[in-house]
Amino acid sequence: MLHPLHGFSEKHHYISSSKLQNQEFGLGGKKYHQKWCRNGTVKARGSAILELVPETKKESLEFELPMYDPSKALVVDLAVVGGGPAGLAVAQQVSDAGLSVCSIDPFPKLIWPNNYGVWVDEFEAMDLLDCLDTTWSGAVVFTDDKSKKYLDRPYGRVNRKQLKSKMMQKCVSNGVKFHQAKVIKVIHEESKSLLICSDGITIQATVVLDATGFSRCLVQYDKPYNPGYQVAYGILADVEEHPFDLDKMLFMDWRDSHLDGKPELKEKNSKIPTFLYAMPFSSTKIFLEETSLVARPGLSMEDIQERMVARLKHLGIKVKSIEEDERCVIPMGGPLPVLPQRVIGIGGTAGMVHPSTGYMVARTLAAAPIVAKSIVQYLGSERGLSGDELSAAVWKHLWPIERRRQREFFCFGMDILLKLDLQGTRRFFDAFFDLEPHYWHGFLSSRLFLPELLFFGLSLFSHASNASRIEIMAKGTLPLVGMMNNLIKDRE
Ligand SMILES: Cc1cc2nc3c(=O)[nH]c(=O)nc-3n(C[C@H](O)[C@H](O)[C@H](O)COP(=O)(O)OP(=O)(O)OC[C@H]3O[C@@H](n4cnc5c(N)ncnc54)[C@H](O)[C@@H]3O)c2cc1C
Repeated sequence: MLHPLHGFSEKHHYISSSKLQNQEFGLGGKKYHQKWCRNGTVKARGSAILELVPETKKESLEFELPMYDPSKALVVDLAVVGGGPAGLAVAQQVSDAGLSVCSIDPFPKLIWPNNYGVWVDEFEAMDLLDCLDTTWSGAVVFTDDKSKKYLDRPYGRVNRKQLKSKMMQKCVSNGVKFHQAKVIKVIHEESKSLLICSDGITIQATVVLDATGFSRCLVQYDKPYNPGYQVAYGILADVEEHPFDLDKMLFMDWRDSHLDGKPELKEKNSKIPTFLYAMPFSSTKIFLEETSLVARPGLSMEDIQERMVARLKHLGIKVKSIEEDERCVIPMGGPLPVLPQRVIGIGGTAGMVHPSTGYMVARTLAAAPIVAKSIVQYLGSERGLSGDELSAAVWKHLWPIERRRQREFFCFGMDILLKLDLQGTRRFFDAFFDLEPHYWHGFLSSRLFLPELLFFGLSLFSHASNASRIEIMAKGTLPLVGMMNNLIKDRE
């Protein structure tokens, strides 16, 4: 079931025990994007919608890439393993400063498969508005059948072809070399590292950056890996019609009336709820994603698809054809990698997914210049760091104490969400989206830090209903103690 790009079925001998634990999760514990195969289990359930899922469609960029020449055996300044948004962003920026960079990915030209959604202000702050293909003036949240909230914050869908082309073009003009392979091993020497690739080629680099997403190819973890999982099934579909306002995206729809008359499904949904996320592009074209925000263990994809089919039927959405589908398994929270360590990390591999929301693209793209700048600075002649010393200095910029504390707070948020059933979740988001925009924007976009996060917590508590307050106190006390302990233990 796994996508070859993220081939979790391929085990490498250096995979740590924590990674193996991850594999025990039914869906592989990884994101994977393979299109539903024609003879899969879902088909056996006979869902008319899922019958429409197309064969895997892999679209590639159409320009020539300058390839790495192994015969020269050059030691590059930086080897970036993984050509997702995180890896390419750093490759582009480090090469911009004149350093030599090699980007290694099994499919460097492939357009990223995920439908990324971001808040427009996040991309605006990075001057990336040209990389959004559709924007909505705001968003809508249904907490239940009676309550609908308007979020006055523009939302956008990332034009992943444009974003990747833009980054690749800059990489090419800065002289980045590409190597098409998977890295299977790294060997460190004092001042350089050797990357052994699946095609037998060895690439030597002064600094190695692991940007392999949730594959966590090279970055080491030393604590048990126990994340929550966001699991979602999404389709980009042509429909006869849909009931959503074209000017707003649907951020969360927690209504469950589609499960009336299906007591078993309704009961399961009341314990581990899922919501609908939708981006309407026109009156007949829409991206629909049924999502389990976070659960441990993650909800099964079959459960999610079954709920989605029931929901679409109830909403009167008749799917005519499906252009793409995506299945999303995002590990959230869990421990950070060993800090510091010789291989530097960024993105999914470095614990950067938001533990309470599963979002990461904007945060990672904003962190790329920080990582790039520190690599350039420390590799530069005046400081002249190398090996472990250099990596330690860069890690410090990526995960400074205030970011680690912020993440700890977000993990606390995730621990509460993990304990909430449908009613509790509804009460939580009722209060959350009633907060001052500064607070809910800041929480979702990782802009709040301690001690402001504590004010956020108090404000949330004061906006909550009495039932919600009792619930937060009952279910949040243990996670709160855990968070306080971790905060005390983690010192500069
Ligand atoms: C279906 C889906 C939808 C998502 N939607 C959103 C969203 O709407 N908004 C948001 O903010 N976040 C979203 N996310 C989270 C998302 O994963 C990240 O935002 C983003 O893709 C992570 O970027 P990355 O560069 O760290 O990793 P990835 O995008 O996963 O890129 C990793 C790259 O590394 C390569 N690679 C893997 N192993 C090796 C190896 N051994 N050697 C060489 N290369 C290797 C892979 O081929 C891949 O190209 C979504 C995730 C999924 C799975």
